[in-house]
Amino acid sequence: MIYFIANWKTYIQKFSEATRLVRNIKEVQQNVSQNSIRIIICPPTLYLGALVNQFRRLNFGAQNFSWLEKVCTGETTADMLKNLGIKYAIIGHSERRKFLGESDLIIKKKIKIVQTKGLTPILCIGETWSQRKKGETFKVLKKQLNSALRGTSRKSEILIAYEPIWSIGTGKLASFKELNAVRKKLNIWLKRKKIKFSLIYGGSVNSQNLEGILKESGFSGCLVGRASTDPREAKKLISLILRI
Ligand code: PEP
Repeated sequence: MIYFIANWKTYIQKFSEATRLVRNIKEVQQNVSQNSIRIIICPPTLYLGALVNQFRRLNFGAQNFSWLEKVCTGETTADMLKNLGIKYAIIGHSERRKFLGESDLIIKKKIKIVQTKGLTPILCIGETWSQRKKGETFKVLKKQLNSALRGTSRKSEILIAYEPIWSIGTGKLASFKELNAVRKKLNIWLKRKKIKFSLIYGGSVNSQNLEGILKESGFSGCLVGRASTDPREAKKLISLILRI
């Protein structure tokens, strides 16, 4: 199974654009066997309810939800997502870690919450450029995983998105060989921990580099930010996956 996860972040400012984009993805999805590719669209929370109701056969994921176990103004709970039919939630994205204080503790709590509700977490991990330069990539990833996965279920699947922070939204990409080396290490480590996982890649994915990421680096899919909000590029990416 190859995953195509579209993380729209805050790129789409108008709901009409959001529907147009989903309609565009739906056109490609119609020719797709759900067994070979899983397309997961993660729009802003504000658009989720309406999109789910309009496009019942597509898979949607949440970009965020509340980790608080109490009533809180302005928040969205995992129960609300579940009741809407949402099956996935992004957790630990580097932008939320950096700008919104999504700490290791919060990430661990969020994974537990979604697993309890039966949603699949999409856990993002990744190193900064300076950590990479110091040769600390795998040490950083291990630390993030150890902390996020402590006490979480080993029975339900977790999607792990390796997203080098310096690669997100920058157009910069490690070589496919380097990415493959990181993937292999993560694979061995996660298997040893007896975790049910799929490893996907995120960071400046586009139609020029996707094939290498999947074929040469061996990832089981991609988490795509900006390129997933461009209708033509999104279609191209999905069509490429179908050809691989
Ligand atoms: C992301 O933010 O998860 C991401 C991968 O963004 P982009 O594809 O724009 O680099």
